[in-house]
Amino acid sequence: MDIKNLLSNFKESDFYSKINLHIHSNYSDGSADFDELIEQAKKLNMKYISITDHNTLEGYKNSKYKNDEILIKGVEFDCFYKMSLLHILGYGIDIENEELNSLCAKNEQERKNDIIRLFKSRHPKKVIEKIHNAHGIAILAHPCCCSVFSLDDFVKKLVGFGLDGIEVYYPYDRFRKIVKFSSRKLPFALCEKYNLIKTGGSDEHSKLLEH
Ligand SMILES: [Zn+2]
Ligand SMILES: [Zn+2]
Repeated sequence: MDIKNLLSNFKESDFYSKINLHIHSNYSDGSADFDELIEQAKKLNMKYISITDHNTLEGYKNSKYKNDEILIKGVEFDCFYKMSLLHILGYGIDIENEELNSLCAKNEQERKNDIIRLFKSRHPKKVIEKIHNAHGIAILAHPCCCSVFSLDDFVKKLVGFGLDGIEVYYPYDRFRKIVKFSSRKLPFALCEKYNLIKTGGSDEHSKLLEH
């Protein structure tokens, strides 16, 4: 099935049980082994997962499960726009696509280190275009982290660049323990307003937990 249709059909409750589209392995700043995460997800009877390491596709290239049907191939890119950091997730991408690979980290620092990644951030327009050219869809991750005056205006601009969706279902309380730049409900409303796909994931940096 086409990735856009597949993701559009997931429901909120799926993201709290059998689907998790935001996980990091030790190819970026997570602690768990890439293939062990997949084995864990299978043990937990999950339906789909996406391991979305920062700026790298290496995990998929080296995985013995790379063509397993539980996997939705994913990646998370650092971007900077209108004085705000933002993370764009790409799903359903062709991991061999050259343009997409050209955006990826050149060394371990660019996959693991927040500060280095900050200075390597790219324009979201370029990232979204390259995700699309690699047959994927582009999703704004954990929107409460965008330090913008109006998330609506910000999302509207990103939609102009081709944004396909927003990560709506995620552990909001865990992000930016004190300062959040938008409410929990706003991303949902913006998806309705701009006809965007709603995705979800736990942004797991260790092992997957049983629900
Ligand atoms: Zn992120
Ligand atoms: Zn993440």
